[in-house]
Amino acid sequence: MNFYKLISISRKIKSDNLKLFGVYILHILGKRHLSIRIDPSFNCNLSCRMCYFSTPEYRQNNNGIIPEQDFEHIARVLFPKALQVYIGCGAEPTTHRKYIKLIELAKQYKVPHIGIVSNGQLITDDQIKRIILTGTNELTLSCHGLTKDTFEYFMRNARFDQFISLLKKINKYKKELNSSRPEIRINYTVNQKNLSELRNFMDIIGPHHISSLQIRPVLNIGGSYSESITDSQISEYNEIINCLKNECSKRNIRLLANKTDIKYQKKNSNKKVTEAVYCYIGPKTANKLNFDWKSISFTDFTKKTQWSKKVVKMFFNDKQSSINEAAGNYDVFE
Ligand code: SF4
Repeated sequence: MNFYKLISISRKIKSDNLKLFGVYILHILGKRHLSIRIDPSFNCNLSCRMCYFSTPEYRQNNNGIIPEQDFEHIARVLFPKALQVYIGCGAEPTTHRKYIKLIELAKQYKVPHIGIVSNGQLITDDQIKRIILTGTNELTLSCHGLTKDTFEYFMRNARFDQFISLLKKINKYKKELNSSRPEIRINYTVNQKNLSELRNFMDIIGPHHISSLQIRPVLNIGGSYSESITDSQISEYNEIINCLKNECSKRNIRLLANKTDIKYQKKNSNKKVTEAVYCYIGPKTANKLNFDWKSISFTDFTKKTQWSKKVVKMFFNDKQSSINEAAGNYDVFE
């Protein structure tokens, strides 16, 4: 089943505890139930203004890579339980020379949905072809401006022409290799300065055959810029989202946009289930949990992370959450 369908079914079930119970049963039965996010490298080639990587202190204190020799063990332990594996979560995966190996391993373990999240600036022609040939389901590319000036202002060290050229190449190679995958998703973080450019989205990006557009009002995550849209811009924001909704519908593009909770004030009805299925792996995971990927099993891993204990606690406690709850709030228009 398409992963977005699964999310949409989950959203229709109102009881978070019922969904949590479902996940717990899948876990007990040894079935796939995890959404795994891996940062093979905790580095970035860019320094986007809305991101924590824009501050030198953060860069200095947060770095490292997962050694390539650990990839196979991570895959052995976790991928048989994964409904979804995303390469790239809080950093840039393509700064790890061997990131494609993780995609190939996810394929080998028959993970139903495999994705990459990237700024795209380092992806080579050869890598595009390998991403296509592995059958990667989705490639999410960041784009925080639709003119060269805005794009390069917010995404420091990136080049707008390179981004457009990447979109063209992906489509060219997909055609040559006769593949409809990966679907391309554009991730646009909207703020006071780049809001109005969204009007031109279809003129600039429309011709490049994207499948999904995600629009997220900026969150303050410790970057040097976090100016969210002002109250006086909210009507403009809603008007642009309505226009995009129509344009996306005409082009069969899935629009994921935060329309009903622009300021992230509502409770996330998927909070518990999101927390239960979310499994983050980064360069520091093994050290933090005090194990070696080579000698650990999935049962050991869940014991180390106290997964069952946390899920049982969540049944009774609304406040249990270690992931950004607000970021999960968006509406889906298909
Ligand atoms: S937003 Fe993404 S691409 Fe930009 S600096 Fe942060 S991790 Fe890198």
